[in-house]
Amino acid sequence: MELQFYGATQRVTGSCHILRAAGRTLLLDCGLIQGKKEEEALNRSSFPFDPSSLDAVVLSHGHIDHSGRLPLLVKHGFRGPVYTQQATIDLCRVLLLDSASLAESDAAYRRKQPETRKDLHAEPLYTREDALRALETLSGMPYHVKKEILPGISVRFQDAGHILGSACVEVWIEEGGVTRKLVFSGDLGQYGSPILKDPDAIDEADAVIVESTYGDRLHRELPETLAEIGGIIGSACDRCGNILIPAFAIGRSQELLYLFAQNFDAWNLERWQVFLDSPMAIEASRIYWDYPELYDEEALLFRNGHKGMPLLKNLHMTSRADQSQAINSIRTGAIIIAGSGMCNGGRVLHHLKHNISRPECSVIITGYQAEGTLGRQLVEGAEQVTIHGTSLPVRATLHTIGGLSAHGDQDDLLRWLGGFRSNPSVYVVHGDEEVKKIFRQKIMDKLGLAASIPQAGEIIDLASLKK
Ligand SMILES: [Zn+2]
Repeated sequence: MELQFYGATQRVTGSCHILRAAGRTLLLDCGLIQGKKEEEALNRSSFPFDPSSLDAVVLSHGHIDHSGRLPLLVKHGFRGPVYTQQATIDLCRVLLLDSASLAESDAAYRRKQPETRKDLHAEPLYTREDALRALETLSGMPYHVKKEILPGISVRFQDAGHILGSACVEVWIEEGGVTRKLVFSGDLGQYGSPILKDPDAIDEADAVIVESTYGDRLHRELPETLAEIGGIIGSACDRCGNILIPAFAIGRSQELLYLFAQNFDAWNLERWQVFLDSPMAIEASRIYWDYPELYDEEALLFRNGHKGMPLLKNLHMTSRADQSQAINSIRTGAIIIAGSGMCNGGRVLHHLKHNISRPECSVIITGYQAEGTLGRQLVEGAEQVTIHGTSLPVRATLHTIGGLSAHGDQDDLLRWLGGFRSNPSVYVVHGDEEVKKIFRQKIMDKLGLAASIPQAGEIIDLASLKK
């Protein structure tokens, strides 16, 4: 009865843990490593197990850093079921196919490079066909229903409040008369965030694996964030420019549309045209609007009052490239939500090119910007940036909104951990090195729980944990 840590230990991405118990092997998540080129190359290295020997996978949510290596797992022989929340299956269809398309076009680009660069892999990491095969293995489960998925191993999903369908996973393991319970947080959302419910409280576990992305800091409260956005839109309106919002397709884009609808009058939005300029965000929005049963009470009331979503009368969902290009000719009164969220690719680059040097325009950054991205340069106050090979002065006004994160802050994470009444051993993963250390100390000081930071490959004997 052992748990082995494999991914999201040395880095934030690539979530993956291995459970061996009752003669079976189960994987918790199978995420893609994202970041610098040399780190992403690790996605091509083989798994530390034979994929055909795995009995099942449990997937916490759809984000690529949790689900993105599933096509590789299937390609290399995994034939078992992947259990996940039903909405996650729908989001995975969008995310995994997009990930495969990116890998295919990346490989096609590399194949065109001169001979001297043949060190680059010619094959895509995986293809759309691989992704489709992986999607066939997904098996949907509702929240709050316990199911024996393998002899001696049962799981139950609790709402994690992070993105649609996101789950904290409870795992009961029975072996040779010994029973242990493991809880895997997946990614945890903020309490009180728009649209989704709060993370469910769980009170019993012997061992808890917890994420720590923002374990070292506190987010701004939602009412302050809303006042901030309203203020930015007001002053942008006075300057008669456009507003660009680089946003992640899943979660952030839907939250923004929802907040716009809720604050339509207060923010004078009828003076604007709002563009959702991302095929992936448009698809994800349709999925979000299809799952009212997963909304919190406020969002459900709002949706019922408006007979459905999306709710903005001046919203344009521009899927096609020509529709997107047409936005470039608009000089004033456009709010443009486009990906990528960190401005390291995608349609937002075209919009930045047309607006970043115009002092009457505004850019609102709503999420984490990794080192090396254009978004990070903007946040750090760059005066000049290069987009598609053209150097441009930054004259638009930059705003950073911190309060809309899909990840809970330190207080949120401690609140969720504080729900356990059984003194579990806590394992801190999915965070930067320094952040994990700070958060581990907080867990010990504030909650009095034993907490550790596992290394990649480390094995925990679950049966030996004190009851
Ligand atoms: Zn996530």
